[in-house]
Amino acid sequence: MPNTKLLPHRQNHVFKIYNEIEKYVASSAPDRKAQKNYFLDLVTESSELNECEKNYCKEMFIRNFELHNVIHKFGEPMECKNCKSVRYSVRYCEVCIKQQLQRSFGTWTSENAIVDEFIQKCQLISSVPPYIIEWIPFKQFKDVEYLTKGGFSTVYTATWTRGSIYDWDENKKMFIYFEYFGPQKVVLKSLNNSINPGKDFFDEAINYFKIQSNSIVYCHGITRFPENGNYMIVMNRHPEGNLRNYLKICNGLRPLLLQNIPTSFARIMQECWNTDPRKRPTIEELFKFANNELVNVYKDGKFDNTISLNSALDKINKSHPFSYSSSRILTGVIPESIGNSNYVTSQYDLTLPDKIS
Ligand SMILES: [Zn+2]
Repeated sequence: MPNTKLLPHRQNHVFKIYNEIEKYVASSAPDRKAQKNYFLDLVTESSELNECEKNYCKEMFIRNFELHNVIHKFGEPMECKNCKSVRYSVRYCEVCIKQQLQRSFGTWTSENAIVDEFIQKCQLISSVPPYIIEWIPFKQFKDVEYLTKGGFSTVYTATWTRGSIYDWDENKKMFIYFEYFGPQKVVLKSLNNSINPGKDFFDEAINYFKIQSNSIVYCHGITRFPENGNYMIVMNRHPEGNLRNYLKICNGLRPLLLQNIPTSFARIMQECWNTDPRKRPTIEELFKFANNELVNVYKDGKFDNTISLNSALDKINKSHPFSYSSSRILTGVIPESIGNSNYVTSQYDLTLPDKIS
């Protein structure tokens, strides 16, 4: 938990410095531990950050480092003092957090047994903040405004007063919520006729859940619109995010690829979008790619990372040679057998509750 908040007008500056240092250490230090130490040293020495901002960057890096330790089991295995199971992070014990979530099962309800079961199942599969799906009472939202309408859904913007689960305090056995940073902007996607949600609804929720990775969270949970009783998927709206790009995802479409990104990068992005999750690259393959090709791309300056994706997307008419001629539909692509596939990552492996047909 950062012990300081960034001043709004300094945020972009701090994130830029953070990303630059992170990229630099990824290409120059031999392993994760060395990268961490190098990152912390460079932040300490930075003349572009004040003391609060340095603390913020260090805390953020360590949080992400520990998240990777627990999610990908990168950390040293050790016995948890609380639950006696094996844990991989000094900060997060997946089993302890899971137990906390389980203890809370009786304290909330969507008033729909299948939705409850779905959320519980999600929580038991992915129980590390910030990747925890929740039931969110609608009264936690304010400033709900209509944004747009698609064939099967209506999208709203809103402010989530409590905010998402951001972190975990092991000593207090409590979650830390995003409210610490201030009100959280979210997007609410209401699926038409979802008063009694069926497979389509859960397919859709799973899709958003599955595409979250690293520190990017798309789906926070499910709520219900009191006006019409429809269930809604609660998604993050990143302050820097391109809403149009976002809406493409909301509408089940893929973003266009930039023309000038390296071919290898474009190809792996395409592979990640495969409608069959079993044909997507494994996390090991992605890390291998990031460690080899991507690092070289940045090192050689082949990729002009000064290009703003947001503004570039506005200008691009043609898609990348490797991209599909039009965006592809995401909805309804999760095969029933996904739970039995030979996935390497378990974090996002989800199957539908048995009752849903
Ligand atoms: Zn534990």
